[in-house]
Amino acid sequence: MFEYAPAPESRSIVDIASSYGLFIGGEFVDTRDGHTFKTISPASEEVLAEVTEAGPADVDAAVAAARRAYDRVWSKTPGRERAKYLYRIARILAERSREFAVLETLDNGKPIRESRDVDVPLASAWFFYYAGWADKLAYAGLGSDPQPVGVAGQIIPWNFPLMMLAWKIAPALAAGNTVVLKPAETTPLTALLFASVCQQAELPPGVVNIVTGAGATGQALVAHPDVDKIAFTGSTEVGKAIARAVAGTDTKVTLELGGKAANVIFDDAPVDQAVEGIVNGIFFNQGHVCCAGSRLLVQESVYDEVLERLKRRMATLRLGDPMDKNTDVGAINSREQLTRIRELSEVGDAEGAQRWSAACELPEHGFWFPPTIFTGVTQAHRIAREEIFGPVLSILTFRTPAEAVEKANNTPYGLSAGVWTEKGSRILWMADRLRAGVVWANTFNRFDPTSPFGGYKESGHGREGGRHGLEAYLR
Ligand code: NAD
Repeated sequence: MFEYAPAPESRSIVDIASSYGLFIGGEFVDTRDGHTFKTISPASEEVLAEVTEAGPADVDAAVAAARRAYDRVWSKTPGRERAKYLYRIARILAERSREFAVLETLDNGKPIRESRDVDVPLASAWFFYYAGWADKLAYAGLGSDPQPVGVAGQIIPWNFPLMMLAWKIAPALAAGNTVVLKPAETTPLTALLFASVCQQAELPPGVVNIVTGAGATGQALVAHPDVDKIAFTGSTEVGKAIARAVAGTDTKVTLELGGKAANVIFDDAPVDQAVEGIVNGIFFNQGHVCCAGSRLLVQESVYDEVLERLKRRMATLRLGDPMDKNTDVGAINSREQLTRIRELSEVGDAEGAQRWSAACELPEHGFWFPPTIFTGVTQAHRIAREEIFGPVLSILTFRTPAEAVEKANNTPYGLSAGVWTEKGSRILWMADRLRAGVVWANTFNRFDPTSPFGGYKESGHGREGGRHGLEAYLR
């Protein structure tokens, strides 16, 4: 194995303030009735900044600002003008990409290689893509004169903080809505930096408002009577609570929830590529990915070979400082998430599955979990059914394509799936039968703004991305 010299990215490009207010009506304001909390780097537990936990009066002020901006400015701004702002935001994100990547990695714990090469470029691409739609809504297949919904409340998780923000804000603004966005409590900093991008782009005040806080702030936003639409990405449990809260009201809802994706390897698959796909499927972003390939289904005839090569590949993964450009696996996002991963892994041990982790040294401070696989997993095991949301892979086997389909679909979720085979006809046959919103063939975890993304069953409803993503923000 190669030894790598440290290659740390410099953090000097970002200026983190010691404390942040809320972004309401185009400026940073102090809280009316909230508190403060600290956001830390999960890799070192160092405090990065003090952030506001918005209270109900803050949420109310943010919604009022969004309503004013909607009524007076944004709903009267033609699509071709809205597009200019979105293009401007896309460009600024690209120009300031290093700053965003460094801040994302510090606050979230993900490797700088990923924030630099995936999160930030995709966030910018999302704004570019939806900028193109802003003046073409009449051609989106949603009627000849589709109208915006109004004020959208948007609640996002911590696993792709900036990217989830872009997935939510870009289509909403393109369609003519104004927004109040609440980032996750452990990763608020790139959303607050994005607020400065809105200022730099001279976006009219109130079109984008950002309120930081935890579950209670999200609840206040969901319960606000002047919010026309709620867009939520997060856990199935909270998604269900939101669905209950808005039932019987006029509020529109889209929910992007959890997953337990099957990654299916047939015996004719190119094994080395498939192993790369398995690694990317479950160890990308420490497995904090709703569409992670967390259930591996391997055809029995190639099981030994795949397992051996997978272990060999896992032994080369470098875990450690997320700011090091050589790092493959960064920090677990929070102590709470680490506890959840440990607990479910212990359940795997107790249920009789065999655990194997690549030998690696875990840093002394921060939250870490080594890349791990479980073999001897059956469909009844909790680690085959529940989302672990960490770098933990459950491995099962199958003999026939029909059995692969049966097992892949045997889950309460249905967000994504992967198929590895050399046969084109088998890819189509599988894609027809897999009950998942996205099916990747001979690749995994690929995202593109032109492609709709969303789930079946407990993975939620509604689509983000592509033309379909506009539907949620138009009447
Ligand atoms: P979470 O549901 O705990 O939190 C998500 C967001 O909701 C956070 O901003 C949180 O503060 C807020 N929130 C919490 N309680 C709330 C309440 N009662 N009312 C309103 N808002 C509330 O989820 P998490 O732990 O942050 O994220 C992990 C989950 O997100 C995983 O289950 C993962 O699969 C899912 N996820 C799904 C997608 C997707 O596109 N389908 C993408 C990323 C993550």
